[in-house]
Amino acid sequence: MKNYIFGTGNFGKLTALALRENKIEVSAFIDLNLINIGTLFDGLSVLSVDQVEDGIVYIASNRNNHRYLQNLISDKNPHKKIEIRYPDHFLKSLTLSDGQLSWSAERCNSEIENFLFMREVAQGGSENFLKSIDIVLTEKCSLKCIDCSNLMQYYEKAVDTDLHTLLESIDKLFSALQFVKEVRIIGGEPLMFKEIVPVIQKIKTFHNFGSIVIFTNGTIMPRDELMAECSNSSVRFQISDYGDLSRNVEKLEALLIEKEISNSRDRVLTWQDCASLDRKVRTKEELLSVFSNCCVNDAFTLLHGKLYGCPFAAHAENLDAIPELKSDSIDIGKENSEGILKKIANLVNRSNYGACNYCNGRDYTVGTVEAAVQTKYPLRYLKVH
Ligand code: SF4
Ligand code: SF4
Repeated sequence: MKNYIFGTGNFGKLTALALRENKIEVSAFIDLNLINIGTLFDGLSVLSVDQVEDGIVYIASNRNNHRYLQNLISDKNPHKKIEIRYPDHFLKSLTLSDGQLSWSAERCNSEIENFLFMREVAQGGSENFLKSIDIVLTEKCSLKCIDCSNLMQYYEKAVDTDLHTLLESIDKLFSALQFVKEVRIIGGEPLMFKEIVPVIQKIKTFHNFGSIVIFTNGTIMPRDELMAECSNSSVRFQISDYGDLSRNVEKLEALLIEKEISNSRDRVLTWQDCASLDRKVRTKEELLSVFSNCCVNDAFTLLHGKLYGCPFAAHAENLDAIPELKSDSIDIGKENSEGILKKIANLVNRSNYGACNYCNGRDYTVGTVEAAVQTKYPLRYLKVH
């Protein structure tokens, strides 16, 4: 019986390590990206979905696309005897050390945790559990990156979120949901939002979340009040290091270490090329593939009182770059708990968002661009109204 791993990249490698540690011999990898098919990965051949023979396929994807991959294997191999399995058990017991992959051991563990969380939610069938919510504090940023995937480069008059609306939305959302694994505080640059402390305090009044992560670009030093709120708590700083542009990165890191606030710093050199705003022409199958393999298709985003399925949908609508697609978002202020959960369930079960028609997508095939190239002026785009 042959064993295959569906998925390459670091998560495919992790799965291979976990299987080998349990004496399971892997025959080949399977991948969707045409560029990889026919090449060698981790010493083994990379096959297309329809090249698989009878055997066991382990799904090794850290994206929210498991159902899609599973269906694809069945659809492309109707007459073969293929059993789909998930490597949960093997990943749980995997022992890791730094240097085995291009990810750090800490990053590997966090990716495995996310994978296992997704699996648990899928098995429990509950939409009351979310992997993450991105809370957008402001459209303002201290940098203006041409290829910002959250579309800050298009804002001509960037504004902060209204604190009252935000606190009310947090109240309603967290009262409705059973659990949110990671609450991500983002912007633009969230440290430009003067009232960040009351936001953190509000979230901390709830106990149904795993951790709070503040994403920053290393340009701004946080105020003492925020440091005090983050000490001895479940708050972590995630610093994107853009070299010279992140002018305070060393100072910030030193301060966080001094205050014993959990933090990690990533030197970012490239991004996916996913920040354009043009209408795309895609078949139904292409749309399903773009959405299913997108790495942020479950990155729920709270912006100006509305919850969207992904950051692109949120900002493209806010910028008036796409038509308002009511089924792509939830107006939190207008819903009760039951309504919020029902609409989240609808978003979770979508096969694409309307916004995907305007988005390059963030799947395996999207090219890369140099990170953090700056623009002096906001980029122009076509508005709907
Ligand atoms: S630093 Fe760049 S990528 Fe990050 S939010 Fe600001 S503009 Fe976007
Ligand atoms: S609009 Fe669709 S393809 Fe684009 S980021 Fe969102 S989920 Fe992904």
